[in-house]
Amino acid sequence: MRIARFEHEGAVRWGFVQADHLSIVAPGGPTILDALPLSADQLKRLADDCTERASVDDVRLLAPFEAPPQFIGIGLNYRDHAEEANMVPPEKPMSFGFLNSSIIGPGDPIEVPLISEEIDWEAELGVIISKPGKNISAEHVLDHVAGYVIINDVSARDIQDADVQFTRSKSLDTFKPMGPWMTTVDEMGDASDLDISLWIDDVQKQAGNTSNLIFDVRHLVQFLSASITLQAGAVISTGTPAGVGFSRTPPEFLTQGHQVRIEVEGIGSLINPVTREDDATKGAHGTR
Ligand code: MG
Repeated sequence: MRIARFEHEGAVRWGFVQADHLSIVAPGGPTILDALPLSADQLKRLADDCTERASVDDVRLLAPFEAPPQFIGIGLNYRDHAEEANMVPPEKPMSFGFLNSSIIGPGDPIEVPLISEEIDWEAELGVIISKPGKNISAEHVLDHVAGYVIINDVSARDIQDADVQFTRSKSLDTFKPMGPWMTTVDEMGDASDLDISLWIDDVQKQAGNTSNLIFDVRHLVQFLSASITLQAGAVISTGTPAGVGFSRTPPEFLTQGHQVRIEVEGIGSLINPVTREDDATKGAHGTR
């Protein structure tokens, strides 16, 4: 199933993306976090119980989660991306944290900040954790995965190089587009053979497949949960395949007027325009 969060008639709601409509969960019903550990059958019953409907075109889709309890990035997790970055593939997953304040939804503009001109794209598969877990074994990983989402790990390369540490360069305002919805684990399994692609203005820049992940979903959840009690609603962004801007000759970066489209097989597409910080409407991202 596809679970979406959206703005409808002035209120933030959530529900299920069906073939030709959204089934909207009633106010006072379970929250989107409550739904994460539910089985496919339980989710279907919840969707069947929805009496309110809307067209997907009549709502503004939002990031499925605007405040995940943990938001973890994984670096250099595709061999071809490590090669293009002239880095040795890591022997263990390379993890770091993102700030929630950088999360935006489908259609929201990625802002080129005043302090950087080297804004790069990274198409990534995001994993949503369903229920708390520590020391999760590989065979139990999927019991702790609710589903998957698309993430653009937008990165300011000049800041990334200057800081060494990744937090600031990857958590500038608007740098984590997430969406368009979560596809549940019963449809996607361990997500181990999915095409993942990115286009800038209809020119394809990335064409990867999750079968080329160095550390796959099972490995990442097992590895992280050995250190951290993963919480329900935690998001893990699993890394990007080759084709990012800084490793191109000459390097390419996002500028105002670009449109970025990421597709992940089984989820859909996440589209965001690019604007400049000083051109953005004041407060556009601070009100949700
Ligand atoms: Mg990344």
